[in-house]
Amino acid sequence: MKLYDEVIAHINETLSAYQAKTLPVGETNWSDVGKAKMILRSEMAYELGGDRLPALGSTIVTNSQDLVPQDEIVLYGLDLPEISKDQPYARITFVRTDESAMGEGNDLYNAIHRIEYFRYHVFPEGFMMRVSAASERECVRVGSEALDKGLDFAKIGNFMIDALHVHKDVQAVKVIFVTLPEADYDSLREDYKMTKKITDTIDHMLKDVNMDCNSCSLQEVCDEVEGMKELHFGISHNSLA
Ligand code: SF4
Repeated sequence: MKLYDEVIAHINETLSAYQAKTLPVGETNWSDVGKAKMILRSEMAYELGGDRLPALGSTIVTNSQDLVPQDEIVLYGLDLPEISKDQPYARITFVRTDESAMGEGNDLYNAIHRIEYFRYHVFPEGFMMRVSAASERECVRVGSEALDKGLDFAKIGNFMIDALHVHKDVQAVKVIFVTLPEADYDSLREDYKMTKKITDTIDHMLKDVNMDCNSCSLQEVCDEVEGMKELHFGISHNSLA
């Protein structure tokens, strides 16, 4: 499945303009506090993506070993202990999966969704993700007490890697954090929108029996993304079989 590979390549190209820091991958070693634990304004040190700054969270699936060779955490910009006020923020996660295990049609769509939804099921201490699907934002409240205990992006990255490896189809995960003020968040947001369009198109293919590309409202996406049409005609063929 190469559907999202061009988006990943474009994100890599955008980020290649900035200096990356690779963070250690290993044991998570950080508490899971569960959904009920809120960080109040009075308890937070700052907000990533707060005060209407860019705030982006994206999870993208690939089967390419070249794009995601192993588990990895990369940071562009300041790490959590170095930040003292609200910052722009992006969390981009590339997830390599086993193509044969992902299945086709509904199975594929559901597998992609399960992986994308991991962000609703991770609750690291002192790092409260606030996801708004409507405004397509992912902000984070960072707790003062957790920073005193040593919270940093390496701990959060490892926490996310472990949460994604719970899915049996996941083979490797690359977590990218961006806090650089000068990073091109507009370009990263466009890539996020393209990712969403591709997933929405897969959903449409499953629900709509229209097989005429010339009269289909999704033709633009399917013309642009390699493998999209093959996926639709493959889905239809299999559902008829
Ligand atoms: S393959 Fe053709 S019919 Fe199917 S969603 Fe794409 S444009 Fe529409």
